[in-house]
Amino acid sequence: MPDPTLPSATPDFLQHDRPPVPDLAVPRGVQPFHLQAGPVRGRLIRLGPLAEVLLTRHENHPAVARLLGQALALTAGLAAALKYRGSFSLQAKGDGAVPMLLADCTEAGALRGYARAEPAALAAALAVDAEAEAAALLGQGYLAFTCDQGPEMDRYQGIVAIEGATLADMTGHYFRTSEQLRTHVRLACAHTPAGWRASAFIMERVAVGGGIAPEAAEGSPEEEAQEEAWRTALALAGTLTEAEMLDDALPPDQVLHRLFHAEGLALDRPRPLSYGCRCSRARLAGVLAGFPEEDLDHMAEAGAITMTCEFCNLDFCFDRAEIRGMDAGGSAGGGLSRYILGAAGCHGTKPRRQPAVHSIGVLPCRHGAPRCCCRCWPRPAAGGAMPFRRRSARSASGT
Ligand SMILES: [Zn+2]
Repeated sequence: MPDPTLPSATPDFLQHDRPPVPDLAVPRGVQPFHLQAGPVRGRLIRLGPLAEVLLTRHENHPAVARLLGQALALTAGLAAALKYRGSFSLQAKGDGAVPMLLADCTEAGALRGYARAEPAALAAALAVDAEAEAAALLGQGYLAFTCDQGPEMDRYQGIVAIEGATLADMTGHYFRTSEQLRTHVRLACAHTPAGWRASAFIMERVAVGGGIAPEAAEGSPEEEAQEEAWRTALALAGTLTEAEMLDDALPPDQVLHRLFHAEGLALDRPRPLSYGCRCSRARLAGVLAGFPEEDLDHMAEAGAITMTCEFCNLDFCFDRAEIRGMDAGGSAGGGLSRYILGAAGCHGTKPRRQPAVHSIGVLPCRHGAPRCCCRCWPRPAAGGAMPFRRRSARSASGT
């Protein structure tokens, strides 16, 4: 197969070949469960060898890889709660040594992530604490959780200030304050003899019987019993060790059995996880066709434009002469690429000039919508303002 990152005789808009990235799936990456005896449901996430291939795309410092691994496992676990087709993404943006942390996962378990670190700031943070956790790495900023369930549904986005020492603390803070949900989140990521491994344990308090039966009335003996069952589950979950979370030899069902065998543990159908980036020349050619010609000239170096997929750490090289951007009137010159980008999920219609940003993770679509060219990303405005609204409806003029 020809390398799709390099120019070839095939027109760009026809090149949907997957670039040379690991084609790895973990069949039982997410193990959902509920407790028949209590108001508890949850998921145990094990990335297994997927953690190794996702975390070694970039040469990150182990502290940054550990944070990204936690974010990936968490995102995989939260995406598993999606009820329709779509994706779940986590974005952290702060003023610390890791100013950007992104992870996203589709309902089918396609997972990817990226962390950007500032080397000097990272060295300074690690000099203070060699085991720096999320708060010390991210600094002051915000955490955005975005749930995108396709064009027929509202895109849901929750944003909170970064608060807490670890990513698990920050997530708990988000669910407590924004969702009024009682959750227990544990995250683990470490470099083991088998390579990087990452895991998440997420437990929620729901109505009794895994959300099937109605909630008991407040103050009633039933409600008291449910509260007691939740406290018991919390105490048992508190005994889960990082070694148990990351041990490949200990299957997820056994871990859960150890914790909850006396609480009526019921295992639900496991879900797969896989390497989830779908970057291709076709998508990136569609993105380039959305830029004005003048910006494309600015991007070009020695007659070529290089677009980097930050998730895969792959450079896609385009011949400048082959790319036709927007003309001065804002209409696209991309021909078929207009259709291709539309299929990738663009919902805006208003053309807007964008700065030349050579990164797929933060590129707006050709219409200026705050989306990545391959899947959506929340994209903060310049200056650190938060342009997001909760329950932001999709553009009514969407195509
Ligand atoms: Zn990619």
